[in-house]
Formats: sequence, C-alpha cells, structure tokens
Amino acid sequence: MYKLPTEEEIRGAIYGAMKKKKSFPSLTSLREEVLKELKKLDASYTVSLKRTRILAARSGFIRVEVKKKHTNKKIENCPVCGGKLEKIRNISLLGEKIVIGYVCKSCRYKSKVNELPLRYSFHFSR
Ligand SMILES: [Zn+2]
Repeated sequence: MYKLPTEEEIRGAIYGAMKKKKSFPSLTSLREEVLKELKKLDASYTVSLKRTRILAARSGFIRVEVKKKHTNKKIENCPVCGGKLEKIRNISLLGEKIVIGYVCKSCRYKSKVNELPLRYSFHFSR
C-alpha cells in the first residue's frame, strides 16, 4: 500500500533534493530524487509528478525553467502550479485592448497566449 505524504513533508523532501543536486534537467529526475528523500521518512510514501511540480513551483527556492510549445487551447489557470493567472494586455493598432500573455501570481510563470509548457528544468535559487 502506498501512503501520501503531507505538503510539508514533500516541501522538505524537495528542499533536500535541491540542496544535494542544485538542479534537475527534467521533472522526472526531480521527482525521482524527491521520492528518495520521502522514502527516508516512510518507505511506503509516493508522490505524483503533478504534485511534485506544483509544490516545487510554489516553493520560493526554485527557479523553474519552462520550454514551451504552441497550443490553441484556452488557458484558465497556471499550467505549472494551478495558480491564478493575471492577463498581460497590450493596445492593438486599432486601439483595442488585447490579451497577449499571462503571468502567474503564485509561481511567476509567464507565457504568451498560445503557449503551453512542454518541458521543465529546476534550479536551486537559494
Ligand atoms: Zn503558477
């Protein structure tokens, strides 16, 4: 049986992983190291890629680099951490206000309108 660690425990494990390796080239490699840290607390702990990504992005001690791809989907919430997005507007040549991009209030992810994350890398920023 798997058990789910608390947010605080995952945050601690992310911190431990970052302190050790300083940066990770992908979300998969970050999660792998975080899982190792969690298993020190409890061998039956597990954590999903999504939960690792969200808590890493919101940690405050990690800079997330995001490679993006083109999309036609409408983005509602931050695709990195699920936080609230603020619209970045510009005035078009015709004087209309148009949305040209988004910035996340929680993790500072920034993108143009037609972009979605493709790949992540994580860097210790403390
Ligand atoms: Zn975000």
